[in-house]
Amino acid sequence: MKVFFTESSAQRQAFEAFLASPKQIVIVCHQNPDGDALGSSLGLKHFLEQQGHQAIVISPTEVPDYLAWLPSIETVLDFENYGHTEKAKTLVANADLICCLDFSNLNRLKNLETAVRASKATKLLVDHHEEPETFADFTFWNQQAASTCELIFQLIEQIDGRAFVNQTVATCLYTGLVTDTGSFRFDSISKEVHRVAGELVSTGIEVNKIHRALFDNNSITRLKMLGFVLNNKLVHLPEFKVVYMSLSAEDLKQFGSQSGDTEGFVNYGLSIKGVQMAAIFIERGDLIKISFRSVDDFSVSEFSRKHFDGGGHKNAAGGRSTASLDETISRFLSLLPTHLG
Ligand code: 5GP
Ligand code: MN
Repeated sequence: MKVFFTESSAQRQAFEAFLASPKQIVIVCHQNPDGDALGSSLGLKHFLEQQGHQAIVISPTEVPDYLAWLPSIETVLDFENYGHTEKAKTLVANADLICCLDFSNLNRLKNLETAVRASKATKLLVDHHEEPETFADFTFWNQQAASTCELIFQLIEQIDGRAFVNQTVATCLYTGLVTDTGSFRFDSISKEVHRVAGELVSTGIEVNKIHRALFDNNSITRLKMLGFVLNNKLVHLPEFKVVYMSLSAEDLKQFGSQSGDTEGFVNYGLSIKGVQMAAIFIERGDLIKISFRSVDDFSVSEFSRKHFDGGGHKNAAGGRSTASLDETISRFLSLLPTHLG
């Protein structure tokens, strides 16, 4: 499935007509938001505000520190923050439009799901994950897109808004392009990704500054935690071309880990010669949060959907388990002979 406004000009016109008068707009993204989720949300917010709309971003869970420099990030409401929850509920209930960015199923909104489902607002979905749920009035979805930020740029072009892509909008959108493509190197890269990147760079954004804000902004504890994981918790199974790592609640506590500071650890597993799939198991609260990454044809989204209540993309997916860390890893290991033997 690939639903573009261009494939239904009636839909595009209806959307343009809808935005012709000022609207109260809420933008929501997935829990544990990453660079693409918050970059696309804030990029769209800055675009819509220039058109006279009111737009506010609500994140189901807290904003990670490594994205704290994004323009207007301080305006994002964290639904799990007691001071924000009621305000967020009211905004969702009274919104004219709810934009759902960078997720394909409303269950990725965690505790915000009920409020969004119940709201009478018109809904727009802009996303590139597999198997989208059909809940939206307007859909802008393409599984081939490397990031939601790329889709937001295309959507803006299609509604004749290119002139409003200023440096603020472009900085936000470029962030998602960089983070979701592993700095322009994943299999999802296409000519279109570079076209959009070129358009964003042409606004005069500081590309090197964005890259450094994202990747050269480590806390010393994050780096030490990475060293600890690589040194003590990395297991290589060459017979399956698999690497996995884990962090227990105890390990996280030892390093004073905060949300978002284990982002990217899983990719180190994939950097080992010959490895086809990497996984990391992290014990957060009463759940084991799992990240899977792969190269070539092995679909971690299918694997995660089938066995770990998750999903995502062919080469990058997430999942979860309510069993203990040891039990979850044992189950993972028991699946390898069937899937990668
Ligand atoms: P991460 O491992 O970084 O949490 O997630 C990798 C990719 O899979 C991201 O694009 C993320 O949005 C997506 N993802 C993570 N968890 C889930 C899930 O439970 N369901 C679906 N559909 N996608 C997920
Ligand atoms: Mn994304």
